[in-house]
Amino acid sequence: MKNIIVLGATGSIGDSVLSVIKQNKNKLNLLGITFNSNISKAKDIINEFKLKNVYSDSNESYESLMRTFENNYDLNILRDKSELEELLNKDDVDIIVSAISGFAGLESTLMAAKTGKTILLANKESIVVAGDVVLPLAKEHSTDIIPIDSEHNAIFQCLNSDKNTDDVSKIIITASGGPFLNKKITQLSKVTKKEALNHPNWEMGAKITIDSASLVNKCLELIEAKYLFDLDEKFFELVVHPQSIIHSIVTFIDGSSICQMSNPDMRVPISHALSGDSNRLSLNFTELDFSTLKLTFQDFPKDRNGIVDIAREICKEGGSSGTIFNAANEIAVQSFLSDKITFDKIYDVIYRTFDAIPVSKNIDIESVYEIDIETRMEAKKVVKSIS
Ligand code: NDP
Ligand code: MG
Repeated sequence: MKNIIVLGATGSIGDSVLSVIKQNKNKLNLLGITFNSNISKAKDIINEFKLKNVYSDSNESYESLMRTFENNYDLNILRDKSELEELLNKDDVDIIVSAISGFAGLESTLMAAKTGKTILLANKESIVVAGDVVLPLAKEHSTDIIPIDSEHNAIFQCLNSDKNTDDVSKIIITASGGPFLNKKITQLSKVTKKEALNHPNWEMGAKITIDSASLVNKCLELIEAKYLFDLDEKFFELVVHPQSIIHSIVTFIDGSSICQMSNPDMRVPISHALSGDSNRLSLNFTELDFSTLKLTFQDFPKDRNGIVDIAREICKEGGSSGTIFNAANEIAVQSFLSDKITFDKIYDVIYRTFDAIPVSKNIDIESVYEIDIETRMEAKKVVKSIS
């Protein structure tokens, strides 16, 4: 039996992880969750899984849990971060799923990196903002990081669940193109939130759905891939594949290309990662119908070259460059979702903010937090100036 803690269990990735656990109750056990504000969903999870441990940063959530579960002596409602850290380090914890969205996921990913357990990583932002800190920390503590972002999990599967890339000649990361496939940036000034949040293939949280619509998600994923597979950015190519059936392709030095395919369903990469070194877990999935399958590919749109160039620069430079890029993007996304800017201005906020903040080569965790705050302030100024 593998015991699992899910950080960010009330979100979209949380749903998929819980669904895989439910289908494999003889092998997987949900030992604890964290969440932020979705109290009713957290309570449902506690009841359904007869949960032993729960943590939320929010006082309101904590107090509500205390009121509801005051007579449930089997449930441990954690009060503060030191108790969460203690839980993550307990001997019976095997797997920690990092599924909080955005920069907010960094703190608990860092905690998990120090445990020597296995992290299933969805929170790509923690690698983008602090790859130079998170990966050495995980290495120091012999913590395994297994990707569950579908493209990265696909690469991992193509590499035979290994990160040895000695024989790799090229890796193609596929992109669906999102709801605005084939639209130029200049055609995006009037798109609505509803349109931007309506992804054609994937159901996901709001932040990553906007990132997918802007294609910034692919830039974050390029940086994530560079760090997770420790490969130079020039090995990676971004290709649009609107059907989201092939999740990535690895070409080896002998000319063989291997890809991983499935319908777009996050439970597939998650179940692969949860199986670890054992046999695959069984999953109630929709089979691909190869008799009707049409797979198409097209170039990544040229008018997004500017943001891809920034992502490639970040892969080469490291340091605080990813921290700046991520903070600028998070403010741009929030500003679009709160009607302060139009969709096309997301790019302007990123470009102008990225240009305004100098990059530091050497970072530590304190400087990441400082640079994140400084960048957010600058990005908010840019938003004001263009809205
Ligand atoms: P959601 O917005 O659906 O869920 C986010 C989760 O994080 C919720 O449990 C939320 O709690 C919690 N959370 C949000 N803010 C905070 C905070 N400040 N402190 C603590 N917890 C917080 O996001 P997704 O599940 O879509 O995405 C999660 C991560 O996985 C992201 O990094 C995303 O890029 C990545 N990912 C997601 C994919 C997907 O299919 N959804 C695919 C590939 C990667 P609450 O709801 O209780 O407020
Ligand atoms: Mg992805």
